[in-house]
Amino acid sequence: MELWFTEYQTKNLGLTARVKETLFMGKSEFQDIAVVDTYEFGRMLVLDGVLQTSIFDEYIYHEMIAHVPLGVHPNPQNVLVIGGGDGGSVREIVKHTAVQQVEMVEIDGLVVEVSKKYLPEISVALIQEHPKLQLKIGDGIGHMAGAANKYDVIIVDCSDPIGPGEGLFTPAFYQDVYKALRTDGLFVQQTESPFYHQPLLKRLRQDIATLFPITRTYLAQIPLYPSGTHCFTIGSKKYDPLTVDKSHVSQMETRYYNRDLQLSCFALPNFIQELFK
Ligand code: SAM
Repeated sequence: MELWFTEYQTKNLGLTARVKETLFMGKSEFQDIAVVDTYEFGRMLVLDGVLQTSIFDEYIYHEMIAHVPLGVHPNPQNVLVIGGGDGGSVREIVKHTAVQQVEMVEIDGLVVEVSKKYLPEISVALIQEHPKLQLKIGDGIGHMAGAANKYDVIIVDCSDPIGPGEGLFTPAFYQDVYKALRTDGLFVQQTESPFYHQPLLKRLRQDIATLFPITRTYLAQIPLYPSGTHCFTIGSKKYDPLTVDKSHVSQMETRYYNRDLQLSCFALPNFIQELFK
């Protein structure tokens, strides 16, 4: 019998993949967790029915959420990741020689354990307990409220604005992010699809721009995510992503990100620019 998994990306549209095998299904205090192995995407992590990452294309999201903001800051020594339980962002962040310490605050310890068992290619830095990494299982919102003037770069690698991730998309959270950053710090958040989530993206941009003098949105092509085009938004206190000297950007082993993309990913089509006016 053929088995198919469908993620409902909008009320009227879904992404369906033929399943080879269901590797894990369980429930944590916070969410339903599943790992399914599929023909096109390989193993995929699913939280509350929403696709989080896949072996086929995970490198795009993880490289772009990590290397672009780290390429903007000239000396990102102290980095915080909120969420990111699969470990992919941390795997990329520790490649930067400037980075001395990465704190990761993930609310759901079961996501970390399941990722270590079924997605070892992604969670390698968690498995190896990388020396730069400090992992804390807890709520990113509470953690942020208690931090001040501490981080150079904060990476909000969160799930959608429903369930435990809802509070990570609010003005109150952005105020705490601002407070937790050093005077020249910056943060990035995954801000969903510019095709399907326009009201959300417009609101987030406005909320971030109210606090941060520099707000920039960039794009990446990610087949797994709704519409295949995903965006990320940076709020920065000092450094403008558009004026980065790409000859100073670290060159690491990557499959998607490169020095040219460091700047060109910020080129936005007119319909997105219109949205931000
Ligand atoms: N790449 C992914 C995407 O955009 O779909 C995000 C991946 S990562 C698995 C998202 C993580 O954020 C989840 O493991 C979830 O448990 C975590 N998370 C959600 N709300 C959180 C919160 N308030 N504090 C810390 N982590 C949170």
